[in-house]
Amino acid sequence: MPAGPSERPAEGLIDLHTHSTVSDGTQSPRELVRAGVEAGLAVMAITDHDSTAGWAEAFDAARGTGMTVLPGMELSTQLDYASVHVLGYLIDPDNPALLAEVERTREERLHRAESMVARIAKDYDLSWDDVLAQTAPGATVGRPHIADALVAKGLVPDRSAAFGSILHWRGGYYRPHRAPEPTVGIRLIAEAGGVPVIAHPGARGPERLFAGDRVRSLVDAGLGGVEVNHRDNPPEARELWTRRAAEYDLVITGSSDYHGAGKPNRLGENSTAREQYARLVELGSGSEPFIG
Ligand code: AMP
Ligand code: FE
Ligand code: FE
Ligand code: ZN
Repeated sequence: MPAGPSERPAEGLIDLHTHSTVSDGTQSPRELVRAGVEAGLAVMAITDHDSTAGWAEAFDAARGTGMTVLPGMELSTQLDYASVHVLGYLIDPDNPALLAEVERTREERLHRAESMVARIAKDYDLSWDDVLAQTAPGATVGRPHIADALVAKGLVPDRSAAFGSILHWRGGYYRPHRAPEPTVGIRLIAEAGGVPVIAHPGARGPERLFAGDRVRSLVDAGLGGVEVNHRDNPPEARELWTRRAAEYDLVITGSSDYHGAGKPNRLGENSTAREQYARLVELGSGSEPFIG
């Protein structure tokens, strides 16, 4: 999906957080890369939830375009039953420990989605096949796919409406899924040669989740950066995490978290400074940016 009217960002922005149909984006990796080129991005990271399956197609699509694709993944982790996403850039996609962990999470996500659908099916005309019909083969399954099935059935107008009602964690149908603790996830990414960056740290009450001593333990586990500039971080959280980044010498990133038509987020709406990107690339050793 191209950027909306008059939202085309200036040439050469660096956007380090996007999703394809390999997880819960609505565009294939190839279409995602095309959208990045159209938006004039200099660098676009592909960061599907718990999967690196889109990298090869994204690299192929970027060839000859002049846009760089930074390979990444958004790892699901959990702290005090709240979900904490950790971006892992430049990981080795074949690292056995990391692979084993994401395989387990993806399996659990599948069972959790089936169990949510079983609950929803008691009150609404929705089946597991309806959800599968909205999911690319092998994709990391999440609530967005259930949302798409609800939309297709005419039960809600769009994904956001689904998240605000039936799929809300207080909506009566929500089920959690298991995921490793953030320190465990951060260590797995770092040991796979990657750079761990906490995604949208202000999205769910950073004061509660990331009290001072906890940040120390994340840094000790190998945390490399924080996604300060993201639409889900309120201004106070951006200030707090900018201070913490300075205190712990962390890379500061900014990104759109683009999901195609699945979310209002537009490519390049937040971006990463060149010197911060250079530091990130310097820190990663498990794979290479693909220069298209
Ligand atoms: P899950 O990981 O299955 O619990 O689903 C959470 C995912 O749904 C997040 O990674 C978001 O990308 C997506 N999401 C959350 N809220 C919304 C929303 N309001 N509209 C569309 N997608 C959303
Ligand atoms: Fe998502
Ligand atoms: Fe996320
Ligand atoms: Zn994301």
